[in-house]
Amino acid sequence: MFEQVKLTYGADALEPYIDTLTVETHYGKHHATYTKNFNDAVAKAGLEGKSAEEILASLDSVADESLRKALRNNGGGYYNHNLYFESFSPSPAKAPTGALLDKINEKFGSVDALKEELTKLATGQFGSGWAWLSANKAGDLMTSASPNQDNTISEGKGYIPIIALDVWEHAYYLKYKNLRPDYIKNFFEILDWSKVEENYKRIIG
Ligand code: MN
Repeated sequence: MFEQVKLTYGADALEPYIDTLTVETHYGKHHATYTKNFNDAVAKAGLEGKSAEEILASLDSVADESLRKALRNNGGGYYNHNLYFESFSPSPAKAPTGALLDKINEKFGSVDALKEELTKLATGQFGSGWAWLSANKAGDLMTSASPNQDNTISEGKGYIPIIALDVWEHAYYLKYKNLRPDYIKNFFEILDWSKVEENYKRIIG
């Protein structure tokens, strides 16, 4: 049985960057529904006991097309939002350190340059989707964007997300309306880089 991550902050704790009603709706309704529908699809497919990463990495093994689609969309919705909601803090670490910082500097030049790259991808994602910073087991980093609830795992890219930037309208529209770039700018104000580092360390082992 998959469960939503517990929020380590109150629904109002990310103000003014992400407003209370958006957290309540996004976490309490959207994420809750993806989670319920993922559990239903997992049971139907007989995939209980597998991790969400395993399921998303082996969607091709599910023969039934509508079930495969349900696992891709709701499994992605479950997994992506766990990563998203886990990565915020009202008092975030403002920059990475250690091996992750070294890798970012090597690959992108600086943390600011990486943020610019993610901003470009997130702004340019047409319609609903996500922008990612992902890592592979060797510690290499990659930026990308995905439509819908796809991610670098379900896309078979061999990379696992460590930053999840949700640009579905439900993530920002109540407060920001059409101003997606303003939401993206403020996303980085509450992104806790210590969480991103934890994600990175877990992947490289
Ligand atoms: Mn979302």
